[in-house]
Amino acid sequence: VGLATDPFNVALGMGALQSIDGVSDTVRRLSDMQGLFADQEAVAAILAEGDPVIYEFSARQNPSSDKSLSFGLTRIRSGTIGGEYYMTRGHFHRGKGDEVYVTLNGQGVLLLQTRDGQRRETTMAAGTLSYVPTGWGHRAVNVGSDGLVFLSVWSGAVDHDYETIARRGFPRRVISAPDGPVVVT
Ligand code: MN
Repeated sequence: VGLATDPFNVALGMGALQSIDGVSDTVRRLSDMQGLFADQEAVAAILAEGDPVIYEFSARQNPSSDKSLSFGLTRIRSGTIGGEYYMTRGHFHRGKGDEVYVTLNGQGVLLLQTRDGQRRETTMAAGTLSYVPTGWGHRAVNVGSDGLVFLSVWSGAVDHDYETIARRGFPRRVISAPDGPVVVT
């Protein structure tokens, strides 16, 4: 189903979007994002034993010349690397284009930052809507013991900038502590 011009309707669940034309699946393993975690000794130790999946997503990314909506479903696995929770790489949007996240399962923190240094954190929990205006780089962090699953819908005009985050990271990290997750600078 689902040429861009055809209406379609699917149940939401990992794997469920695969029946839609143009949807592709991506798996991000630790080796794909090893430089993003703070504890590089922990990264090296884990990679010596294997290469765990950190998150996976199914998405339809329309051409950035396209005015239709792109969408995807992401599942971040539960786990930590040197005490830092599993997370997405994070990115900025180039050009003008907002995004919404709708959390379907799990417990998370959404880290946000602007290019000029503003920063924000919001809670992701089943049933919550998170709105990401243009200009705010965003990274989702799974702080729960279950998968963090969320639907995202973004403007087709968006082109993704992962390089800025790879270079400078996020100003805050989310770390596992005895009493639960803490956000540290
Ligand atoms: Mn985005």
